[in-house]
Amino acid sequence: MPEQLLIPPEGEKIQLKDYDPDYTEGLDKDEAKTLEEGFERRLAELQDMLYAQSMKSLLVVFQAMDAGGKDGAIKKVFDSVNPQGVRAANFKVPTPIELGHDFLWRIHQQVPQKGYIGIFNRSHYEDVLVVRVNEIVPRSVWEKRFDMINEFERLLAENNTAILKFYLHISKDEQRERLQARLDDPEKRWKFSVGDLPVRERWDDYMTAYEDVFSRCNTPYAPWHIVPANKKWYRDLVITRAIVEKMESMGLAYPEPDFDYATVVIPK
Ligand code: AMP
Ligand code: MG
Repeated sequence: MPEQLLIPPEGEKIQLKDYDPDYTEGLDKDEAKTLEEGFERRLAELQDMLYAQSMKSLLVVFQAMDAGGKDGAIKKVFDSVNPQGVRAANFKVPTPIELGHDFLWRIHQQVPQKGYIGIFNRSHYEDVLVVRVNEIVPRSVWEKRFDMINEFERLLAENNTAILKFYLHISKDEQRERLQARLDDPEKRWKFSVGDLPVRERWDDYMTAYEDVFSRCNTPYAPWHIVPANKKWYRDLVITRAIVEKMESMGLAYPEPDFDYATVVIPK
């Protein structure tokens, strides 16, 4: 893992301006795509073992500003894996029923069961990001959530759920270009929401909120990755490689049969 991508130690204050969203570790598009395809093939093998073994699960969390590339990354990184072993959850503005519970209630229901990869498109982190910036609840409420999130993720980790969290880091200029492209392209227009514009106006407030997330919720059992994401092909490589590296360390293997298979005869 190149140094620019290393996650700072738990508790260290990080500043997003120190992270270059254009970084590509010197790779060009073709080189990155070739590497990414290799990791994707390995991801498919590892996922097959995860599913067969059914003892552990993997949770992959995606957060980003609008047009940061969450949908694109999810589509690309997981397009080689068996869809039966993957569950994607998309967290929108909470419904009245969800708001009638604690903020982790809807999240916990979507956590992957053993054998599965769970993908979160947005997550419980919205409850210390948009909720904080828009003052949906007072500081006294969201302040306590960092510790609650760490404890929640520790519960999952100790229940054999590996957790990886990716922040797709784009520049404000790149966001403008992507939002404009959504307006210009009839096939992308459905993705445009006028509601994204007031969020863009609060860019600096979001960066501050994200920096607090990375300082307070970057644990050894659920680390954050700040992914340089202006170049989509590099973004996809970083994510796929990090997932493969994590899964290689999970002790995945095909289960041994609990019968003497050498003596089994299939009847004619
Ligand atoms: P999208 O993912 O672009 O379809 O938009 C989903 C919207 O739901 C975003 O504007 C999020 O900020 C918003 N959202 C997600 N979770 C929450 C939450 N817990 N509270 C308020 N808004 C949320
Ligand atoms: Mg959106």
